[in-house]
Amino acid sequence: MGGQWFPKVGVYQRDTWNCHAYHANTEFFSDFGVYDVELSLPNGLFLAHAAPVCLQKGADGAERDASLDPARPLNAIWKLHAEDVHDFAWAVMPSRSWGYTHFEYRKTQIFYYSQGANSENLPRQHEAIKAALRTSAEWFFPYPYPVLTVVDVPEEARAADGMEYPTLITAGSVPFDPFHLRMEPEGVSVHEFGHQYFYGMLASNEFEEPWLDEGFTSWFTHKAMQRTCQSYFPAAGSRSVDFGNGLPTGWRLPWIRSPNGAFGCETGRELFRTAYAKPTWCSTNWRPCWGGR
Ligand SMILES: [Zn+2]
Repeated sequence: MGGQWFPKVGVYQRDTWNCHAYHANTEFFSDFGVYDVELSLPNGLFLAHAAPVCLQKGADGAERDASLDPARPLNAIWKLHAEDVHDFAWAVMPSRSWGYTHFEYRKTQIFYYSQGANSENLPRQHEAIKAALRTSAEWFFPYPYPVLTVVDVPEEARAADGMEYPTLITAGSVPFDPFHLRMEPEGVSVHEFGHQYFYGMLASNEFEEPWLDEGFTSWFTHKAMQRTCQSYFPAAGSRSVDFGNGLPTGWRLPWIRSPNGAFGCETGRELFRTAYAKPTWCSTNWRPCWGGR
């Protein structure tokens, strides 16, 4: 996986540069830009990426995704171009061990890169992504990018799972994942897609205020899952749509910052409570007070 680059492009705000150092347990804040990326990869690897491909004309006149690398005979060069994004990510796997499917939905080209053993979950994942595209268009505005890439990471790369990048998300799956029981492929796909708005296009400072992206994205996940999947759950409090785990003690934790005043939370559990659970609980429960929308 190629992502989480550091250093990032700084953001100029209120007459000063916002360029934080790298910290564990935080994410990043970066400015928008145009990315022209050229990758030389061994022929045996297949590339998942967050951009339309720049087709290249070969010696025979045919246009292809990649061209031979003159400096490395066993490599191919991929040229990628992405506009109006504040990060750029890609992933590679041996070609034979990665499934690839492509759909178009509401003018968005959706590319799925899946693990062979999980291929039965792909239709579920696709239904979830379509639901996320529909509900976000209804509640916010239509997803404006031409592409969305969804990567099912392999078992041995779980640290890269459940992550958002502009126009590319990782939403892993497992071979045995009964429908109606966990709804994990659906929940993770909807959540990571939601980040295309809350962090992606709204470009909040997820380093200093992670609740602005994780909180509102979790609220969107909750709401979109209720709209599209709630009837499948045995009870309204099913785990996949309830981000309230740990809330009783979560209220006593500092809002976002750790007690020593540094950025970031001291543990992943603290981050979950403050950045995910509290804002989701608040926005979901205050919504009826604001008129129900
Ligand atoms: Zn998230």
